[in-house]
Amino acid sequence: MSCCKVSGNVAPAVFAWSILIVCTAIFFVCASEFLVVQLSPVCVAYEAIIAVFLLINFFRSTFSNPGVYPRAEDDEVKAGDARAPLFKNIDVNGVPTRLKWCQTCRFYRPPRCSHCSVCNKCVESFDHHCPWVNNCIGRRNYRFFFFFLFFLTIHIANTMGFSIAYIIHNSANLAEARAILLIIVIVICVLLFIPITGLMFFHVYLICRGRTTNEQVTGKLKGGFNPFDRGRCTNCKNTLCGPMWPSFLSKRVKKLKKIDAIVLEELLLKTPKQPKKSKSLTREDSDDIKVPIDSNATMQQQQSVSLLGPINSAGILGTASFMGPSSI
Ligand SMILES: [Zn+2]
Ligand SMILES: [Zn+2]
Repeated sequence: MSCCKVSGNVAPAVFAWSILIVCTAIFFVCASEFLVVQLSPVCVAYEAIIAVFLLINFFRSTFSNPGVYPRAEDDEVKAGDARAPLFKNIDVNGVPTRLKWCQTCRFYRPPRCSHCSVCNKCVESFDHHCPWVNNCIGRRNYRFFFFFLFFLTIHIANTMGFSIAYIIHNSANLAEARAILLIIVIVICVLLFIPITGLMFFHVYLICRGRTTNEQVTGKLKGGFNPFDRGRCTNCKNTLCGPMWPSFLSKRVKKLKKIDAIVLEELLLKTPKQPKKSKSLTREDSDDIKVPIDSNATMQQQQSVSLLGPINSAGILGTASFMGPSSI
């Protein structure tokens, strides 16, 4: 579930949930009869379907794990880690990329990972922390957030349009309770429509460019080649319909985290197993490993990404991310 379920200020999220549910309820209670009689029952059914998709995606972006990397545990951290270099350079699809050591989580953050100051956790492909869902938006819940914005835009437009139609049709009875409530709903819709539509199209732009809000706002890719951009169509397909990134907080992954490094070497590097002489993969060893990384990589590529994931002091990859996107 959410990495932020007890963190941050829940007031904006409670406000967002409240205004959405109350306005939607007012609309259906006050305008349904008019729509069925004067227009068509299809209008009500269509609007109900949009509202259901909206609520499902709102719920999932609020309560899904955005892609949190668990912190290194005490038994994984050795004394020298406090003096670990702050930055480490790696090669991502031919582009030199700098990894930063996270003092809080005690590992080198993967290329698109950032530490959320509100949740106080590292999140994969961190987009931003959204106060309206009281959760980080990251690799595992970005598509839900985008579809939430998409359906919210349609829902607002529909609610506004149908409510205006009701008011025009009943212009002689504007003093009645239904008309007053729908006028209030129209005012709220007018205030929200432009910023939410603008935000939705901003995320369409980001998806097409293969960027996150964090990368766009902080200018991380400014003037340079974006190694995560795989073309408009592939970016959209992988971001919105690609396989789900595994949760590193699941019990199964935590169990696998303890797996012997020699097994990981065999799985990831495809080297012959040498039970007695093989040494563990150390942080220094990882400097020599250059693998293609892409946020929209295939399952096989995503297995390679884990090489650059958290590497603990014991020389074991901090997360058993070799499991691939659809394994968990
Ligand atoms: Zn961190
Ligand atoms: Zn956060």
